[in-house]
Amino acid sequence: MRLDKFLADMNQGTRKELKQLIRKGLVTVDGVTVKDPGTAVTKTSDIVLAGIPVVYNEYEYYMMNKPRGVITATEDARQETVLDLMAGEHRKDISPVGRLDKDTVGLLLITNDGQLNHQLLSPKHHVDKEYLARVSGKVTENDVKAFARGLFIEEGFRALPAQLKIKAYREIPAEADFRDLAMSNAPGQDLPDGVTEITVVIQEGKYHQIKKMFHAIGKEVIYLQRIRMGSLELDPNLQEGQYRKLTDEEIRLLK
Ligand code: URA
Repeated sequence: MRLDKFLADMNQGTRKELKQLIRKGLVTVDGVTVKDPGTAVTKTSDIVLAGIPVVYNEYEYYMMNKPRGVITATEDARQETVLDLMAGEHRKDISPVGRLDKDTVGLLLITNDGQLNHQLLSPKHHVDKEYLARVSGKVTENDVKAFARGLFIEEGFRALPAQLKIKAYREIPAEADFRDLAMSNAPGQDLPDGVTEITVVIQEGKYHQIKKMFHAIGKEVIYLQRIRMGSLELDPNLQEGQYRKLTDEEIRLLK
């Protein structure tokens, strides 16, 4: 590839700026100063810009704790996207792996590794996606069995078997005084009356899949958080809206 593209891919500046720096003699390739921005280099070339080595990272991997209210897209004319939240330097060709609804929070992987993207999303690869949810009404053992059999969530479409676990349910008191209606639905807050907290693991990712699965059993999801994708768990130290690079170990385990 061209030297100016190598440096631009690594976020060292715009192609125009980099061409000027190269022409000024500020860049060495394998120890030799080069002044032609079109000089052919490879990913393993030893490149130094203004005294600082620039290592070529072909792929970048980030984990974000997606907040509510932003859309899972790279850019949008009207709405804030998850990429808009990434202020720091990063490659321009990264994009989210799979989509979380605007009101869904939690684990979002963002990368430019197209092969990993495909591997994690293709139903053929059966990669787990685990969610924590709060659902209106009482989720029962019969519902757990229905999820395990595979629910019909759309005309003619049967979801793959899913593992549903009931974590907690709060009964509606005989004399409901509706004081809980003002409570948040998010975990960490007391469970509102008549709400079940569950986890569910699926291996596919149809549009609104979890919400549709609960609709199929007559219940509504009121809070949804993705907590795991394959081996990758949401880092509890990330506040909603924060992100970080994956560690080498996390990348190795995902592949
Ligand atoms: N299922 C949903 O319904 N929404 C999401 O955001 C993810 C899975």
